[in-house]
Amino acid sequence: MTPLERALRDRIQAEGPITVEAFMESCNAYYYATRDPFGVDGDFTTAPEISQMFGEMVGAALADCWTRAGSPPETVYVELGPGRGTLAADALRVLRSAGFTGEAHLVETSPLLREAQASAVPDARWHETTDALPAAPMLLVANEFLDALPIQQFVQGTERRIAVAAGGLAFDRDGEIVEIAPAREKVIRDLSSRLASSGGVALIIDYGHARSGRGDTLQAVRGHLFSPVLTDPGEQDLTSHVDFEALQRAAREAGAAVTPVVTQGEWLERLGIERRAQALTRSNPDLANDVEKALQRLTAPDQMGELFKVVAIHAPKWPAPAGFA
Ligand code: SAH
Repeated sequence: MTPLERALRDRIQAEGPITVEAFMESCNAYYYATRDPFGVDGDFTTAPEISQMFGEMVGAALADCWTRAGSPPETVYVELGPGRGTLAADALRVLRSAGFTGEAHLVETSPLLREAQASAVPDARWHETTDALPAAPMLLVANEFLDALPIQQFVQGTERRIAVAAGGLAFDRDGEIVEIAPAREKVIRDLSSRLASSGGVALIIDYGHARSGRGDTLQAVRGHLFSPVLTDPGEQDLTSHVDFEALQRAAREAGAAVTPVVTQGEWLERLGIERRAQALTRSNPDLANDVEKALQRLTAPDQMGELFKVVAIHAPKWPAPAGFA
């Protein structure tokens, strides 16, 4: 039994069955605090770990938006859940070359991943939550952050819980599932009211659906394979699909402007990732194969191109970023 499973069983014995939300929150806090999960030897690989092109496209989109907004000098770069800091380093390289000199603020709870981020972005500042971010215009990015925040599941109007069963942990009810994500919506509302009052733009990239729907999307991944959700709590990555329509609604209600939701493949192609791939290949002909493979992984519909979606939230006074129309 994993150390976290022991603690969860004790908690359930004392308090009764716990919600999916409480389970997911404990599992992910433990999981990210105890390992670097990224890459071939880890549990999963994210877009910035596939190729520098991903972070460069993010940096280019933010730099263009900032320039068109008049290059306000007090603007800061913000990233939520920066992992190893690879995306921040690649995006900031492009932003710096466009004249951006603002601070980097990283929202990260894992002490272990903060250390990795400190090597990639040495002069960054860290925060536990978005509440502590400065009141300044923001160039913000969140890649595969919201999917890790806890969700609630309901079956016929009753919240689904997890109980102790004979062979381990078990759901207390089954049936058609409806999911909501108050923790995600809180983050989006908070960012959106900051964007509306102080200016800036946020790029939200994750897997999920453009329209709200029903169904169970909670999943566990370990060693690049799907695994049963309740197995080995704290030792596998728990995520669920992001409802982008719900994010758009929360952002608008908080006074921000939103773009349409587009697929990652469309967005990267509109931003010119193919030209970036050609340029990388010209300067390193030996890498032609790797660059082409990375391009396919990021954009092909049967890889990350279609399942992953992108939406931007921006201050009504700021221009909409490129790539959404
Ligand atoms: N954006 C990175 C990493 C994605 S994994 C990439 O694309 O590679 C999720 C990240 O969010 C990790 O850095 C994890 O430690 C962080 N995280 C998870 N839950 C969090 C929370 N509640 N608050 C802040 N950071 C969190």
